[in-house]
Amino acid sequence: TSFVDWDRSDKYHNSYLLQKDNTLEANIKNSIAKGLPDIAVSAAQGQFLNLLAKTIGAKRILEVGTLGGYSTTWLARSLPEGGELVTFELKELHAQVAAENLTKSGVASQVKIVLGPASESLAKVPSEPKSDLAFIDADKASILQYFTEAKRLVRPGGVIIVDNVVRNGRVADPSYSDGSVDGVRKLLAALPGDNGVEAITMGTVGEKGYDGFLYAIRK
Ligand code: SAM
Repeated sequence: TSFVDWDRSDKYHNSYLLQKDNTLEANIKNSIAKGLPDIAVSAAQGQFLNLLAKTIGAKRILEVGTLGGYSTTWLARSLPEGGELVTFELKELHAQVAAENLTKSGVASQVKIVLGPASESLAKVPSEPKSDLAFIDADKASILQYFTEAKRLVRPGGVIIVDNVVRNGRVADPSYSDGSVDGVRKLLAALPGDNGVEAITMGTVGEKGYDGFLYAIRK
């Protein structure tokens, strides 16, 4: 098999399609300086989320897994005036750093950070008003639970994205098992009998390696 420099490939495409963005670069720099893990979505994935949110005219967005608010910023920038993004984060430090970063990005007024285990926080969110988009990117062991809550909270025609469902091909490797891979398999196993969504996995490669996301439309 030939070696493909995915990092170079992303950079090449981004050089035509993304402008240098000091705010987002500062977000990543500050998050790393504060000791957060370097596991945010890539710039291209962030822009994809931003375009998707604009495509469906999202006014209300849910995000599970805030980290330092990097994907949050990409998504929040798509919102029209009066739009709102609610993001769920377990760790106090992450939520604090995200709050700092979102303030610096100028999107803090449209973002609410909810601190605590997302399964508990999501269960407390009322079913109305519905959201247009949910981005699930927290602990992978619980994604079926987050997906089930997202179905309750997203309007018909709305979109649910679950990140990291390919995991370098390990999800499809029967000899491999860990908490994250098993979490993805549990979600996949629930989908054939699920009349609430239409969904597909879209594989991705780039600076974050070989992975993919599940794209679901709420019926
Ligand atoms: N979406 C972020 C981005 O792209 O910028 C990255 C999120 S990071 C991959 C996953 C985040 O989920 C971490 O900040 C982690 O602390 C958080 N998390 C882990 N378990 C959680 C839970 N049970 N409830 C809420 N958040 C959780």
